[in-house]
Amino acid sequence: MSESIKGRAIIVTGAGRGIGAAMAHGLAADGAFLVIADRDEANARGVAEAITEAGGRAMAQPVDVTQRASVREMIKATVTAYDRLDVIFNNAGIAQTRPFLNITEEDWDQVMDVNAKGVLIATQEAARQMIDQGGGGKIINTASIAGKQGYDPLAHYCASKFAVVALTQAAARAFGKHRINVNAICPGVVATDMWKVIDKGFVDEGLTTKENEAFDNFASTVLMGRPSRPEDMVGVARFLASSASDYMTGQSLMIDGGMVLV
Ligand code: NAD
Repeated sequence: MSESIKGRAIIVTGAGRGIGAAMAHGLAADGAFLVIADRDEANARGVAEAITEAGGRAMAQPVDVTQRASVREMIKATVTAYDRLDVIFNNAGIAQTRPFLNITEEDWDQVMDVNAKGVLIATQEAARQMIDQGGGGKIINTASIAGKQGYDPLAHYCASKFAVVALTQAAARAFGKHRINVNAICPGVVATDMWKVIDKGFVDEGLTTKENEAFDNFASTVLMGRPSRPEDMVGVARFLASSASDYMTGQSLMIDGGMVLV
């Protein structure tokens, strides 16, 4: 058990499934106190219950990260339950497949709203709380390999993830004086339900012919020879939430098995 995150109050958004759920399980196993925040309340409850049954501490919190009032409510509930907020993982996100020429303003707004504006709002509200409680804290954003490299037919998704990398750097500059570290993780191809959406989009747009083809094509470029499991994110998440990363800020770490070498 890592002593350095034991008892830390940690919010993970988008923790109802996928990468967020895996990170929440891993952090709770190390003794952190978790808030499982997701717009899918039933999934959030399921993850919180599973953590509690495994002997950890977690509560479920419904949130829509695009809505400031909802994000404020999430932070208030965290402080009410655990007295403070030590760490937030801004992990909630959505993806959509659309060839470059077909992206509509509505598509753009939808993806940017959750992935970019959602990170802006939650970073602002979390930082306010951390400053109010005397400074110190960790803000960890989920960007992507798509935050380092543009892909068609995911241009708007990529733009939103480049935005997350930019927000990570800007927030690191804004909050360093308050001893708040702001970093990001950049997963590669992770086997989650998000890929069902991306894959279906490839098929619907006539870009691939069968389910999983897009996933397999992307995964075939992974140097480690396999796509990622959500659990592959846990080690770095633990490091970024702990005092081991106290002197690191503004960084976006590739956890992609070697897809994008930067
Ligand atoms: P997922 O679809 O399995 O999970 C995303 C979760 O976010 C869901 O539980 C969903 O309900 C929640 N969510 C969506 N919009 C929300 C909102 N407005 N408010 C609150 N919750 C909301 O996806 P995942 O693969 O676990 O992705 C998690 C993060 O990792 C995302 O930011 C995604 O862009 C990023 N990512 C995923 C991959 C991958 O290959 N799966 C790769 C790189 C980055």
